[in-house]
Amino acid sequence: MKQSKMFIPTLRDVPADAEIKSHQLLLRAGYMRQNAAGIYSYLPLAKRVLQKVEQIIREEMDAIGGAELLMPTLQPAELWYETKRWFNFGPELMRIKDRHARDFALGPTHEEVVTSLVRDEINSYKKLPLILYQIQTKFRDEARPRFGLLRGREFIMKDAYSFHTTKESLDEVYQDMVTAYSNIFRRCGLNYRAVIADSGAMGGKDTHEFMVLSDVGEDTIAFSDSSDFAANIEMAPVVVNYEKPEEELAPLEKVETIDQKTIAEVSQFLNVPKEKCLKSLLFKVDDEKYVLVVVRGDHEVNDVKVKNLLEAKKVELATPEETSELFKAEIGSIGPIGIRNDIEIIADVAVQYVVNGVCGANETNFHYIGVNPERDFQVSQYADLRFIQEGDPSPDGQGTIRFAKGIEVGHVFKLGTFYSESMKATYLDENGKTQPMIMGCYGIGVSRTVAAIVEQHHDEHGIIWPASVTPFDVHLIPINIKTDAQKILADQIYERLTNESLSVLYDDRMERPGVKFADADLLGFPIRITVGKKAEEGIVEIKLRKSGETFEVPVNDLVIKVK
Ligand code: ATP
Ligand code: MG
Ligand code: MG
Ligand code: MG
Repeated sequence: MKQSKMFIPTLRDVPADAEIKSHQLLLRAGYMRQNAAGIYSYLPLAKRVLQKVEQIIREEMDAIGGAELLMPTLQPAELWYETKRWFNFGPELMRIKDRHARDFALGPTHEEVVTSLVRDEINSYKKLPLILYQIQTKFRDEARPRFGLLRGREFIMKDAYSFHTTKESLDEVYQDMVTAYSNIFRRCGLNYRAVIADSGAMGGKDTHEFMVLSDVGEDTIAFSDSSDFAANIEMAPVVVNYEKPEEELAPLEKVETIDQKTIAEVSQFLNVPKEKCLKSLLFKVDDEKYVLVVVRGDHEVNDVKVKNLLEAKKVELATPEETSELFKAEIGSIGPIGIRNDIEIIADVAVQYVVNGVCGANETNFHYIGVNPERDFQVSQYADLRFIQEGDPSPDGQGTIRFAKGIEVGHVFKLGTFYSESMKATYLDENGKTQPMIMGCYGIGVSRTVAAIVEQHHDEHGIIWPASVTPFDVHLIPINIKTDAQKILADQIYERLTNESLSVLYDDRMERPGVKFADADLLGFPIRITVGKKAEEGIVEIKLRKSGETFEVPVNDLVIKVK
């Protein structure tokens, strides 16, 4: 490929609003351009990297028996009503109407579509298990699209779904997926860790995230310094064997659900409208101490949920109780922990609540999505749980907990029967009995992975692609293309390497050598071949991008050296 024919708009300066290295470098090196917040064009070089990463993913998915398909991005709202996710997904779901004013979602994920597909076509245990996957553009209206490809509103995902008759079969495929994911991220040259994740909004049980270790990661990983234990601290609660406070806290006893009059008091105290104080629970600590937990419905997710319920005319205006149930089902929001004048909160109890899932929800107007009251507020357990901290003994008894930042590049999930039950995806078992299929889902952020690779592979001069995902294997640079000897030799080298199935970007531009070399470092292919003054003697220079090592090579040895 001739560089003059490519579209590689490099920039000399660091783009103003790009905060992190991958974002800066992918813009500067002409790999991508922003179209709107969190929406990018992948330019030719990025497209080649994406293809490499996708090819690695395909090979590993195919190796465990995955069948690739491509499902539609546009998804009718009716499918999303079936799982209630139309109401529960919140503002991240991009919604549009067609000309008949029918509602559609731009797919943020494809559980509904794939479940409807499989339920219509598969009825017998004989056809299971089944693993389907696709690589496709996804849409999520992220609250804070940022960091370039790390958090986009339109991004590329590999999503896979598996369907089973038994839990054991799901376990097997889940393990296969973990192995496949490990292979994929290793082959992409990433330093990553598989961590125990939060099953939050999906209602799943077993789930792992694949985290690329990086200071710009938005997740915090708690890991043992001497075993394989690693967990996302978002996961709530993490059980640790910590030393209990000397004074044992008495178990909380629920004394009453606060009545409307008290709700009015609470709303006044918290300065939120009465109808938004959905549920208040008063717990007794001992004869003198009480703790009040207020479930508030003023989270934007919840407002949208209620609004959509109404719009869809599926239900009447949800009562506070119904809304509270919706909370529990998918998206929870609890907070703040209120204190009435006549109720004292003992600090420890408040802290227990905070660490036990709320994570700061008692700050004014601060809420967490994905908090599940039933899971995160098991009052009877409060005294045994707290959020894991650095320096704690590892829960597996081996070593000490350390924290690190991670970028979530992959996520594997045992879904169970949530989707198959709500969407009636059933099969007939050996005895002719109808059973819901047991499901798993498995995602990889393909475009995010590309950014994560750049985060881990760059220096002050530019990107340093691992050989497995580089857009070109070789950057071929004649110093002066106008010199016959250089041009003839460069042409020969180009042909020879191309015949050896190496991909070569041939810098045929009329630029100064300094510009070409700086661009080559910025673009970041593993091998640079410079054809210069010694062209007449048939000698060229090889430079390895990663180590900076250079050596002269006779052209006849080139193929062996480069391969
Ligand atoms: P995050 O916690 O970063 O918001 P998520 O848990 O919401 O991600 P999943 O629903 O698990 O994401 O989707 C599967 C994969 O898709 C993620 O592991 C991640 O690699 C990728 N992904 C999710 N959201 C984005 C995004 N906004 N931009 C790029 N990739 C994303
Ligand atoms: Mg997300
Ligand atoms: Mg996540
Ligand atoms: Mg996830």
